[in-house]
Amino acid sequence: MWQSLADNVTQPIAVFASKGPVKGVELAQLVLRAILLLEDAGLQVLGLTCDGASTNKTMCKTFGISGIQSEFNNSFDNPFDESRKVFVFFDAPHIIKNIRNRLVQNKQLKDSLEKFFGIIRQASGPNDHPSTPTFIQLYRLLSVYSLVKPPKTGNCSLSGDSDYIPYISIGDLKDAMKENSTQIRDAKILTLRHHIDQVIEEGLWDVDDIFRNNDFADAETFECVVYYVAGYLAKCVSKKTSCSACLSGIKNTDNHSNTQAAKLLNLKSRGYLTHPDSNFFMLLKQIEKCFVKHKDSQNVFDDTVDEFFNNNYLVPFPCAIHKEDMVEFIFTSYIAMRMRQYAYMTNHETKSTNKVKKKIAKLVSK
Ligand SMILES: [Zn+2]
Repeated sequence: MWQSLADNVTQPIAVFASKGPVKGVELAQLVLRAILLLEDAGLQVLGLTCDGASTNKTMCKTFGISGIQSEFNNSFDNPFDESRKVFVFFDAPHIIKNIRNRLVQNKQLKDSLEKFFGIIRQASGPNDHPSTPTFIQLYRLLSVYSLVKPPKTGNCSLSGDSDYIPYISIGDLKDAMKENSTQIRDAKILTLRHHIDQVIEEGLWDVDDIFRNNDFADAETFECVVYYVAGYLAKCVSKKTSCSACLSGIKNTDNHSNTQAAKLLNLKSRGYLTHPDSNFFMLLKQIEKCFVKHKDSQNVFDDTVDEFFNNNYLVPFPCAIHKEDMVEFIFTSYIAMRMRQYAYMTNHETKSTNKVKKKIAKLVSK
């Protein structure tokens, strides 16, 4: 294989099939011939590289290459033009391997290295050939973990009360703040504080394990979230058209609203987000309700659309000319977006179940 020094170009130049390893001397002959042919074709050969196989070493010896200090030589004369030299490099991984082997020959170092590897292999449980990332992870774990704690990434867990998770929900936080009696409030805050302390001290849980978002379903939150999404969709949909009648049915012309529903958008906006038109917002609220009803159906899309029209929901849209196209586009965009997002959430939720299933599968297949 020929490779350019300055450009990102590589080109295989010859392949030889052989039964068993080719002798070093023969390799040297082949290399010389390859250099002559390349030079003849107008290329300048400056270097030669190969891995540390013993035949390759013999080849290099044939060229007079030597790493011994007293007779050090890393090049030979170019057979095409003797005023130039061809330098020989062994590839970097083999050089590193050589250095390691030299180090390991040192008896004292060898013992402690072996001990350390032994500990790491022991620590990784049934997987006694840890890969590089696992190795680094284990090294860090061993450096900071106390003895009685099982590694979080290992495929074993504490039995007994390991199902316990110190949940914290937004409702708990709200609850604690709303409480009028100082005594009860302090008690609630203390419980939360205890949970947080536990999370930090035990270090066994992720953010997703602790914060539960199952209390986002109240009407106010629903309105705020749909309003926010409606604003986003209004921006996307309005890019599709330049018809001013259509646009007036999608975007809020003042781009301003102080309603309860607009709260989230106003909080996040800093003046840059799009406010949806009130009819557009209403339309999306209706689609969302239909979607939620059929989110687990095999035909989410068709069922959502059917649900919508079976309910005879109104579709207020100011532009009679483009109404059909635009409404269709709004439907497809919204439902597609929701399907993506819902699938993402569901996948996220099933991840932990899958983890358990994988473990069981492993046990069964072995
Ligand atoms: Zn229009």
